[in-house]
Amino acid sequence: MSRYDLNGIGMTSQRTRDRLVKRLAENGIDHDEVLTAVATVPRHIFIDEALAHRAYEDIALPIGHGQTISQPFIVALMTQSLLNRPRPRVLEVGTGSGYQSAVLACLAPLVQKIYTLERIDSLIERAQERLRVMKCSNVRFKHADGYQGWLEESPFDGILVTAAPRHVPQALLDQLAVGGRMVLPIGGEGAQELKVYDRTPDGFEVQTVDYVRFVPLLKGVR
Ligand code: SAH
Repeated sequence: MSRYDLNGIGMTSQRTRDRLVKRLAENGIDHDEVLTAVATVPRHIFIDEALAHRAYEDIALPIGHGQTISQPFIVALMTQSLLNRPRPRVLEVGTGSGYQSAVLACLAPLVQKIYTLERIDSLIERAQERLRVMKCSNVRFKHADGYQGWLEESPFDGILVTAAPRHVPQALLDQLAVGGRMVLPIGGEGAQELKVYDRTPDGFEVQTVDYVRFVPLLKGVR
């Protein structure tokens, strides 16, 4: 497990991480616990070593298989947008590197438990190993198609989708608890809208919070 240097040095040090957090705060992230979680999670262990020196730039980076680790600002924005209920159980669709899952995991006890789905087998294995090294024990992983959600563990107080479908998946709406909130990008490749769906006793309230660019949510597993 010594492959992963949690503390980092130079471009991956705590000081570099703190500079990123300062920048997120300047750009409108105002949830203190979310900022602390971003300061805590060693993003450099979630990407290839060759790119580790860029880990604390506010940019998306490749993680293989044509996928990306999201930009820290977007991770922070989605996370703070999600936290409208006390101690939510959260479903994440699109584990990828596991970075977003780790940020959620570091929000315990504010976040109760995270269930994360990924369609690419090898990505989920690596993500799982990183979270083990970080000693995050409140995350469950499953290799599955996120379009179907995770029925056995539903309903969820929060759902966060980190790849963009063209239309909101019905199974995810169905698996959201009343009073719960889903944050997801919607649209084709290029410009997408980051939307928040709040489930009310009578239906859903929808808002658009930003414009974003995510990889597409694809059907089936690999
Ligand atoms: N949250 C991730 C972002 C990864 S990019 C991180 O912090 O690194 C989006 C991920 O969604 C990719 O890994 C992609 O394989 C995955 N994905 C795409 N379609 C999916 C689907 N239908 N079900 C589950 N995962 C999916």
